[in-house]
Amino acid sequence: MKNQIALLIEIQKIDQEVRTLNTKKQTLPEKAAELDESFRSGKERIDEERTGLEGLSKLHREKESELKAGQEKLRKARERLHEVKTNKEYQAMLTEIETIEKTNGKIEEEILLLYDRIDERKGALKTHEKEFEAVRATYETERRKIEAEMASLDGALQEQKARFDSLIGNLEPDLRRRYEMIKVRRNGVAVVAVRKGVCCGCNMNLPPQLYNELQRSDQIHCCPNCNRLLYWDESANGE
Ligand SMILES: [Zn+2]
Repeated sequence: MKNQIALLIEIQKIDQEVRTLNTKKQTLPEKAAELDESFRSGKERIDEERTGLEGLSKLHREKESELKAGQEKLRKARERLHEVKTNKEYQAMLTEIETIEKTNGKIEEEILLLYDRIDERKGALKTHEKEFEAVRATYETERRKIEAEMASLDGALQEQKARFDSLIGNLEPDLRRRYEMIKVRRNGVAVVAVRKGVCCGCNMNLPPQLYNELQRSDQIHCCPNCNRLLYWDESANGE
């Protein structure tokens, strides 16, 4: 029975370690998802900036060809100026030329403004791209860390499982059932030490008779209060 209780203590340690490892493991996918999300939204902002800049460049090209057409129109109007016969026609032609010049001037202004805006946006995008490269590097490092942590936790879990498998066959089936039952009811702690006459599971004083028996016999006893399996902790009771 002494061996059985030693075995139970060992198995409980493994169970607790497995729980700790699993708890750690559970936090990782969430951490990874948070990282992914912040990386994705950073990338999205850059993409939006690029799209905006492309839109401005397209508008710029359109304005350039509009201006070209306007200049061509102006050239033709000026040519026709030489062909008009009457003063009235001449005045009308001059007015038309003036209108075309005004329109062209407006387009030129718009093009200049667009130049400035594009320049400004290009500069900002360059800065943001540089910043984002740093974000990407950090993201990739953090992501690799999580993968490595996951792998190491899986390795540790496998180790614990192998240890559990190598031990569990030696535990008496009845005792195993009791252990499993108490474990579920008592928050994972089924085997506890007795120190100075007190159950370490619930902190109750044990009846002196039980206390004496625990010291003498090698039978497995339960705490009358919390039902946990008790063992005599020599290191704590040995004075
Ligand atoms: Zn107890």
